Order: sequence, then C-alpha cells, then structure tokens
Amino acid sequence: MAKLLEGKPIAEKIKEEIKQEVQALKHKPVLASIMAGENAGAVSYVKSQTKVAENLGIEYKLHNLAQDTSEATLIDFIKKLNADKSVNGIIIQMPLPAQIDYKKISQFILPEKDVEGMHPVNIGKIVFGKAKILPCTAAAVMELLKETGVDLYGKEAVVVGHSEIVGKPLSLLLLDKFATVTVCHIGTSKAGKLEEHVRTAEILIVAVGKAGLIKGDWVKEGAIVIDVGINRVADKIVGDLEFEPAEKHASWITPVPGGVGPLTVTMLMRNLVEAAKLQQ
Ligand code: NDP
Repeated sequence: MAKLLEGKPIAEKIKEEIKQEVQALKHKPVLASIMAGENAGAVSYVKSQTKVAENLGIEYKLHNLAQDTSEATLIDFIKKLNADKSVNGIIIQMPLPAQIDYKKISQFILPEKDVEGMHPVNIGKIVFGKAKILPCTAAAVMELLKETGVDLYGKEAVVVGHSEIVGKPLSLLLLDKFATVTVCHIGTSKAGKLEEHVRTAEILIVAVGKAGLIKGDWVKEGAIVIDVGINRVADKIVGDLEFEPAEKHASWITPVPGGVGPLTVTMLMRNLVEAAKLQQ
C-alpha cells in the first residue's frame, strides 16, 4: 500500500525557510496582485494568498480593477507596477474578463517580477537549467518528488498533459534531473497508446483535468504517482486517476485534494522572495 504524499507538511517546512529569507531581506517584500472584476474563483485565490503572505511577513497589495478594464489600461497598469521599485512581484488573478487575453498582457510583466514564472524569459531559463523563478505548479510537483527521497536519475518518468503551465515546464525540470521523460497528451490518447505509456512509469504525473482518465491498475508496482488534476464530481473534488486501485500498486501517491494544491501558493511566495533577491 502506497505512502501518502501530502503537500501541507512540505509547505509548512518551506514556509519556515521563506520566513527566514524574508527577515534577511533589506525591505519587506511586496506582492502586487491584480484582479479585474469580481469572480468567485479569483476572490478565493486572493483570500488564500493574502493569508499566506501575511503569515510570511510579505506585503500583499490587491489592485481591484473594473470588470470593463481594457487590455490597454491593464498593460499601462502593469507598466506602472514594473517601474515601481517598491513592488517585487506581480500576479494577475484568473479568470480575467473576456475582453482581456492573459497570454498577451502577462508578457508585459518584467521577467524579474514574474512570480508565476510564466514569462518566456523565465520559461527559457528552464531549458538552460538556470531558472530561479519556476511555474508554481511544476515547482510544487518537483518538491513532492524531492520529499520521497527517490533519485530521479535514469528513472522512467511519464507526464500526462502538455499544458504550458504544468506539463511542458515539468517535463523540462524532470529532464534536468536526468529522468527519461515521456510526455503524453491528447494525441497519445487518440492513438490508443496512453495505457501503454502509463504502465512503464516509475514516476507518473497526471495533469489533465479529466476524472478517472488513468485507471488504477495501469500503475506500475512501486511507482511514485502525482495527481495534479482537480475535478468536481458529485460535490467531491477528485483527481485524474482512480485513487483506491492505484494506491495498491504505487509506493507514494498524492491525495486529491491535499497533494499538489497546498504547495502552489507556497511556491508563489518562494518565487516572490527569489524575485526580491534578484532585484536587490
Ligand atoms: P489544460 O487544460 O491547460 O491542459 C490539459 C492537458 O491535458 C492538455 O495538454 C491536453 O492536451 C491534455 N489532455 C486532454 N485530454 C487528454 C486525454 N484524454 N489524454 C491525454 N491528455 C489529455 O490544464 P492545466 O494543465 O491547466 O491543468 C490540468 C489539471 O490540473 C486541471 O484539472 C487543473 O484544474 C489542475 N491544476 C491543479 C493545480 C493545483 O494547484 N493542484 C494547478 C494547476 C492546474 P491538448 O491540449 O492537446 O488537448
């Protein structure tokens, strides 16, 4: 039976390190958060980010823009925050109103203030193994893997999902640790090859957003399984993988909720401290 790989205790440990790093900075770090309009999801992220920031000694400044804010206005606002030396990091809350294209406007955040790690410069640095600011979810997965104490060198790692925020950066981070990485996506499923690849995984990471996509009995004996997926099924939150049958085969497995989720805000705050250090 697998050991449970929970995010909360790891997050608590990292938060202690962040607190010490915050104290060592010359100034209290400031995270500017932009929310356009009022969306229940964004409001709830802001609430949890505010609480974590406060606990770590980070100043969280929320900028609430109108629902009808144009892209041009938002870009100007980002430029002002870029120029403001007291601001160390900038985050844009999702979802945004329909008239705003996140990909377009997020490129205007200076790479050294991009605490979500999604600016092309920061993504590019991952390729060179030089990134200090990492996409939060991918970084959270790497922390979970680190906690198992298993050396990734030469391991068969299978990543299911190739999104820009999770699957793609994660596959590069795994490669950097010398895992042999296979990335599966919709094309893999359509070719009927998903099961075949998943069965080879010594490290299995699933980030798709489809409940029950990965059958529990596909999991290789002793595999480390990280389920990033979040799906609401009959008022319950579940991952992309059938948990009960999978935990019979895995050596480590993340619960959903309680695995990756609790670590992502912590990774955001760690990025902010890195950003503040880079700016000093
Ligand atoms: P995206 O929708 O951006 O990406 C999903 C990926 O899965 C795409 O690469 C897609 O391929 C692929 N895919 C879709 N269907 C299949 C299939 N049948 N077989 C194989 N691959 C498939 O989602 P995200 O990466 O943003 O998020 C993935 C999941 O992780 C979601 O449930 C999300 O809620 C969760 N999440 C959780 C976080 C946390 O903190 N715990 C943080 C971020 C995300 P294609 O694009 O080619 O269709």
